[in-house]
Amino acid sequence: MLIEKFLLNNSPVAMESNKNFNRRNTLLIIKIEENPLPPNSTMNFEIDWNFIIPKGRNPRMGTYDSTSFLIAYWFPQIAVYDDIDGWDVLYHTGEQEFYNDFSNYEVQIIVPNTFGVWATGILQNSEEILTTEYLNKYKKAWTSDEVINIVKKEEIKSGKIYKSDSKFNTWKYKADYVLDFTFSMSDHYLWDAVSLVVDENTSRRVYLAAVYKEESKDFYEVAEIARKTINYFSKELPGVPFPYPCLTVFNGSGGMEFPMILNDGSAERRSGTVGLTSHEAAHQYLPFYMGINEEKYGWMDEGMATFLPFDFQTKEGEYNPRLRNVRSYERNAGTEMELPVMIPNYQMKGSTQRTAIYVRPGLAYDFLRDALGKELFSKCLHEYIKRWNGKHPIPYDFFFTFNEVSGKDLSWYWKPWFFERGYPDLSIKEADYNNGILEVVIEKVGIIPVTVKLTITCDDSSTIEIYETAMAWEGNQNTYIIKKELDAKPVSITLGSDLIPDSERDNNYYDFSTSTH
Ligand SMILES: [Zn+2]
Repeated sequence: MLIEKFLLNNSPVAMESNKNFNRRNTLLIIKIEENPLPPNSTMNFEIDWNFIIPKGRNPRMGTYDSTSFLIAYWFPQIAVYDDIDGWDVLYHTGEQEFYNDFSNYEVQIIVPNTFGVWATGILQNSEEILTTEYLNKYKKAWTSDEVINIVKKEEIKSGKIYKSDSKFNTWKYKADYVLDFTFSMSDHYLWDAVSLVVDENTSRRVYLAAVYKEESKDFYEVAEIARKTINYFSKELPGVPFPYPCLTVFNGSGGMEFPMILNDGSAERRSGTVGLTSHEAAHQYLPFYMGINEEKYGWMDEGMATFLPFDFQTKEGEYNPRLRNVRSYERNAGTEMELPVMIPNYQMKGSTQRTAIYVRPGLAYDFLRDALGKELFSKCLHEYIKRWNGKHPIPYDFFFTFNEVSGKDLSWYWKPWFFERGYPDLSIKEADYNNGILEVVIEKVGIIPVTVKLTITCDDSSTIEIYETAMAWEGNQNTYIIKKELDAKPVSITLGSDLIPDSERDNNYYDFSTSTH
């Protein structure tokens, strides 16, 4: 990025050979000692800059074919000043994500008149850009429950979509109180859009769009998948009406979230499309609505974006996201490659980071929901979102809100799952069957408190299942005793399931005939 002009309170500042300017990686540190900025006061920056759009299909930003681009992180941002760290002086290394403040944006993007532009925020001047036919379709999509194909395959090259009074069109976008501004453009992408009432009380509608290349196999359905996703988030989990007026899914590469716009590659299978769309869309709540510091606490948003759509992905995507995460967690839990979730992200890399910010916290949220029950969990989550949206919660704000609203001290759960090294491992320590009563002693060998599930096979070939949520470990004890009256004689007991992580499954079986386990 080349800064060409820099005005501070309307005065030019020479950046070279100026003792008040200091560059540290991606940070430009400006000392304002002679011109301080007290609370509730303002300072005016005016900056001219330019940069060259990167070639290549990067998921963060790039060039997806000769005339299709997504452009992100493209302007100088003012660092966050918060009451935890003061100025955020962590620079971007590429390993972590971001920490931005809430801002209002008014952006004008000037492109040749054959290009469409899709961005964060609401398009302010559709009448100036779209010809009557396409303007009508665009407007209809804002109130339609059925997907409108605004630009269809056979129309791409017609030259009739955008107004051509001048060689260039100026697309004006406006977004209020968001963490970033990203835009995409193409002269040959298809454009579908639909809308959805996200709040029955106010009848507020959200506009959802998919813009994609003709060859894409899966994106013809993405507007509808996005609509189902936002319906689930608004009404089921988190059960908070989608907080923004619109969301566009751009068919670029990988899977990446930006306020009100996603960059998603095409998936091979429908399950992949559902998984990617719902994961990236979940990020609109966290980090964006909640202002998460992803440089330090990526688990606060990635873990949530992993967990929130589990039920939706299972039903709509017809796959088992829980199983995938349990397997991934078992591979890494307790190994030297694994670090506790609370270690700040900027200390982590690669797969270590993946387990710590996606997999382990994703499962921790899910088992907590199971333990508290869906209703109480939602009550806690709603209060957390209500208290902290538009601010910058840190982990303790999350823990304390859940403790307070649930009326429980959940330290026994937070500490092992989020703060400590360790792995999940339950075992059958002892089992006895006397006078029709089965007694099983379960030992928590690893530190992670997980659900207890027993499958008992009896000599009359019947099977009985016993299920205790992770609340079995409330209070930190290491053994849990299950007593159960049985009509038939037990033959064997199996502990656990595919959906409960357990790093050592060899101690999960008890055979009464040999009294071994
Ligand atoms: Zn994510």
